Amino acid sequence: MAGVLYLIATPIGNLEDITLRALRLLREADVVACEDTRQTRKLLARYGIARPLVSYHEHNEATRAPQLLARLQAGQSVALVSDAGTPLISDPGHRLVCQAVAAGIAVVPIPGPSALLAALAGSGLPAETFHFAGFLPAKRSERLEALGSLREERATVVLYEAPHRILETLEDLEATLGPRRVVVARELTKIHEEFLRGTAAEIRRILASRPAVRGEFTVVIEGARPEKTRAEASADLRAAVEERQRQGLSRMEAIKAVARERGLPKRSVYQLVELDERSEA
Ligand code: SAM
Repeated sequence: MAGVLYLIATPIGNLEDITLRALRLLREADVVACEDTRQTRKLLARYGIARPLVSYHEHNEATRAPQLLARLQAGQSVALVSDAGTPLISDPGHRLVCQAVAAGIAVVPIPGPSALLAALAGSGLPAETFHFAGFLPAKRSERLEALGSLREERATVVLYEAPHRILETLEDLEATLGPRRVVVARELTKIHEEFLRGTAAEIRRILASRPAVRGEFTVVIEGARPEKTRAEASADLRAAVEERQRQGLSRMEAIKAVARERGLPKRSVYQLVELDERSEA
């Protein structure tokens, strides 16, 4: 009889965050396929589990998947884990699951931690519907384009970001999506867990004022509010223009930059920022 492929969620920081079922299946697995054997060995050692480990990561997936499939077809049970959280969620595993499904092997997910859901649940932003965008592209032009495509998204957006890119991403977020509510969940489940709440620009200022930007970050962004009034739209654009002015651009340069980033005609930005401001005065 064919074996079973278990997709086992593991802690994202706090090692107590692992289910009893996950521990039992890891203990019973014929082999544990993991991203980094050192990382998984530490987790297993914490629970007194010693099973054979094989590496399965983005660089050896193509050769490893058929080997693991052969084991499954020979009746072995394979437990797939990633370094942290749920396998396949911005982590390797998709290729193996596809091959297992195609070969008629049972695939059994063992739910548990994922930074995405922990951040969303703790964010205080609507969680009924959400759009998980994973990691944005590293290249800035592509990142701006990806963010631009999220501008009309009404569901809450969740994304992962690396510590060395979080400041840039918050800047791009403010520029493309405007001053929406944003929550940055840092170091979830760990000693220094924190939720930073505000607009992207406000959170950016807090992080930039620290001696170093460290840790793991998940970003939760309020969805688009289509019912935004003209007054809100102009306040939003004015804030973006003023942010650019604080960065050293002249008023007109700032208007041009904001228009370019948001894909709006310069004239519309000018009108909303300058004329509405005067009519409010
Ligand atoms: N599979 C994992 C999951 O289910 O959460 C995600 C893996 S992905 C390679 C790693 C990214 O998840 C990090 O760069 C960070 O954006 C996010 N992340 C992981 N652990 C986190 C934590 N403790 N706090 C905040 N974000 C975390």
